[in-house]
Amino acid sequence: MDKHTQHLLEIDRQRVFHASTHLKQYAHGELAGRIITHAKGIRIQDSVGNEWIDAFAGLYCVNIGYGREEMAEAIYEQAKKLAYYHTYVGHTNEALIQLSDRIIAMAPEGMSKVYYGMSGSDANETQLKLVWYYNNLLGRPDKKKIISRDRGYHGSSIASGSMTGLPLFHAHFDLPLDRIKHTIAPYYYHRQDSDMSEQQFSDYCAEQLEAMILQEGPDTVAAMIAEPVLGTGGIVPPPQGYWAAIRRVLDKYDVLLIADEVVCGFGRIGSPFGSIYYDMRPDLITVAKGLTSAYQPLSGVIVGYKVWQALEQGTEEWGAFGHGYTYSGHPLGAAAANCNLDIIERENLIQYAADTGQYLQQKMQQVFAEHPIVGDSRGVGMLHALEFSADKQHRTAFDPNLKVGPQIAAACMDAGLIARAMPHGDILGFAPPLVTTKDEIDIMVDKAHQSINKVMDALVTSKQWQAR
Ligand code: PLP
Repeated sequence: MDKHTQHLLEIDRQRVFHASTHLKQYAHGELAGRIITHAKGIRIQDSVGNEWIDAFAGLYCVNIGYGREEMAEAIYEQAKKLAYYHTYVGHTNEALIQLSDRIIAMAPEGMSKVYYGMSGSDANETQLKLVWYYNNLLGRPDKKKIISRDRGYHGSSIASGSMTGLPLFHAHFDLPLDRIKHTIAPYYYHRQDSDMSEQQFSDYCAEQLEAMILQEGPDTVAAMIAEPVLGTGGIVPPPQGYWAAIRRVLDKYDVLLIADEVVCGFGRIGSPFGSIYYDMRPDLITVAKGLTSAYQPLSGVIVGYKVWQALEQGTEEWGAFGHGYTYSGHPLGAAAANCNLDIIERENLIQYAADTGQYLQQKMQQVFAEHPIVGDSRGVGMLHALEFSADKQHRTAFDPNLKVGPQIAAACMDAGLIARAMPHGDILGFAPPLVTTKDEIDIMVDKAHQSINKVMDALVTSKQWQAR
């Protein structure tokens, strides 16, 4: 490592508070740092010349790939003309007007307006406030609870972190908030009764949801928040019939549905939105990541007519809507999003992702279905997960102390591939940029295969595991 890089990393250890990091290990040099300097297409490079294929598109966000000059120019042109003005009290900008019209045109039926933030977390925070305001206006002050799901991921702020269903995001932060409950994840691979069909398991999930609503009291449950496909919780597509069964329960008890499309929105699963793909018919939608392909931080809360009408009515009774961020509707974010949507349209990227995604799913199945330590190979569109298992037949997990998932992700890194060790369980996640070619998918799968075999062989050699 050259002196300059070493010096920068030393300052980084002393001064930067990193997200999702073992703070002490990093500050004391036990955990390696890495300065990312360049990226183009699906590849990223660091300051000492290492290069990786990024099979996770950053954090499933760089959908159009890295290094698009057209994006840089769109942001630059907007910055020269109008870098900032707020959107309070009717102020707006042309980029934002165009973007909002495009988002509503792409969104599922029944959507009316878009409210903007900077991150998925703040957008979900807004969702919660809208739902509370809505029920206050309708004279239902007790109807405030939000049902999320175990393993759901909705961000890490107070409300969104509470809605997240992963223990790491709750423990020691005094979360979740009381009004947020978690029902079971639609995780077919982990069903208790292995004889259950997917449809039976979906019905079971819907029964569990209904039992929770009845136990809490339907008059206290305001909304359910859910990702169309569980993401950070393990990349788990819903079992057959899940969304239809859930929708029936929500309708029965007048519970709103918030579709968290932060990962699925704008093409990730080969459809403009996961809600369209699964016919979820949400009342509210959260978007972020794929909206700008991460070239600028921008998120959105897409509000359906039903809720919108109540919000309008609310301001009639209570005055101006008391919610806003300095950067709501930021022109640079809007310019980036418009250019990103231009690219998606021009390159027909949603259909392309549907085709390439199908190839990705087939290829993974073909290579890993019979692999001795791959218990489950699942996915949809350009999302895939390999879940590792010590005993495939009984779906038994590895001893967590072996850290099989992180070891495999590290072996992939050594082989020049970034695939993500998902935070809960031994799961390797793939969410490549939507522009990835079939040849590049072959390379990704091949590198993953070699890395998995390498870790498996080491487990055998060290007598920590043997084939059953
Ligand atoms: N919702 C979903 C489904 C996500 O995957 C994420 C982030 O991964 C978020 C919300 C939070 O977004 P952010 O990290 O931008 O706050």
